[in-house]
Amino acid sequence: MLAQMEEAGNLLELTADAKVILENPERILFVSIPVRMDSGEIQVFEGYRVQHSTIRGPAKGGVRYSKDLNLEEVKALAAWMSIKTSVVNIPLGGGKGGVKVDTSHLSDAELERLTRGYVQAIAPIIGPRKDVPAPDMYTNQRIMGWMADEFSRLQGETTFGVVTGKPLEIGGSVGRDAATAQGGIYILERYLEKVGREVQTAVVQGFGNVGGHMARLLHEKGIRVLAVSDVGGGVFSEKGIDIPGAYCALKEHGTVSKMAGGKQISNEELLSLSCDLLVLAALENQVRSDNVDAVCAQMIMELANGPITPEADKILAKRRIPVIPDILANAGGVTVSYFELVQNESNLYWSLNKVHRRLKIIMNNALDEVLENQRLCEESSEKLKKKIASGEGYPVTLRQSAFVTALKRIERAMKFRGRI
Ligand code: NAD
Repeated sequence: MLAQMEEAGNLLELTADAKVILENPERILFVSIPVRMDSGEIQVFEGYRVQHSTIRGPAKGGVRYSKDLNLEEVKALAAWMSIKTSVVNIPLGGGKGGVKVDTSHLSDAELERLTRGYVQAIAPIIGPRKDVPAPDMYTNQRIMGWMADEFSRLQGETTFGVVTGKPLEIGGSVGRDAATAQGGIYILERYLEKVGREVQTAVVQGFGNVGGHMARLLHEKGIRVLAVSDVGGGVFSEKGIDIPGAYCALKEHGTVSKMAGGKQISNEELLSLSCDLLVLAALENQVRSDNVDAVCAQMIMELANGPITPEADKILAKRRIPVIPDILANAGGVTVSYFELVQNESNLYWSLNKVHRRLKIIMNNALDEVLENQRLCEESSEKLKKKIASGEGYPVTLRQSAFVTALKRIERAMKFRGRI
């Protein structure tokens, strides 16, 4: 995170004052959560909430339940959220939280007591105008429902806007389930239009909330999805995968790889398929320095967070394979979360059409600005021009210009608030 910020900071000549502020989160809250287990004993869990920046608005970011959770990871993820909300220019900052727990060892009742305990512990620093958590790894709609309920009880008033990603019946937004993939589609379409490229074939890694919807949307747009995969492996068809059929296989066998009419392939094979677009929608660190040379896609979209390692990213840049980075490509999720907050606060709910219309405007504007900053960074850096001409350097990547776009906006907000 810090390296990416440094790199972009150099491109845009971020002031030292802004840099030093952004290198540190504004606030870290450590909490101990005592939970009465079903056995009758009390177990204490460790939790955190990190608010990286509230310069542009209330902090926003998920809560993850993971046994391997550590504070450094939560700090980095919180900073990424500040960047993401800024790239798409929604009036929110960045935060992240979590509890160190293996949820597979908890009963439903224990999970609920833990969630309520976490909310009680972090209640003083969260709220629709302070910090708005959301689902992340091993947290979901049901957990968000408990969080909204616990916070509302503590406040003595209905405060659905304290978290997003809630069920529709208690303040959720229509369109949130497919928002990340839908946002990715808007970004892709705008990018292709702007740079004059076409996509006829695609490969999608991951078939969960994000990857499944993305494969479906690509298929509906008439793009031939050559392969899809999940944790159980992948499936390939030269003619194109029948996406409704893949959903049936997932339901029936627990994995898309067992789908009839396709050839079973491994996830590694999937990453090396020739295609116009490779969508990474599973998990982090999938394209690394040890397998990046096998990638044959013409372009890549990161819908998962951090699916390409920094080393592999540089190699792809040298090979001039465009990568639409996570902070831009998957920001449709946080954007519709923002819409959810707006709807909760106004107590007026939107149609799916309105959600899509507004999402498209935000994603299109973000892509335009990132492309414009890419052009400006390249034009203004004499050093970079020389490096590219000598074959040593590579053009400014979309990741770098997305960071530049975000940091510029945060820095301006700091100036106008008189912080720097
Ligand atoms: P999910 O749990 O619904 O789906 C994950 C998918 O990845 C599943 O199909 C799983 O089988 C597959 N998978 C797991 N390990 C794999 C492996 N080794 N190889 C191939 N596939 C594998 O999660 P999701 O909500 O779809 O999120 C996916 C990614 O997108 C995560 O990185 C998440 O942080 C990111 N993301 C999600 C959202 C959102 O709105 N859900 C928003 C922004 C970013």
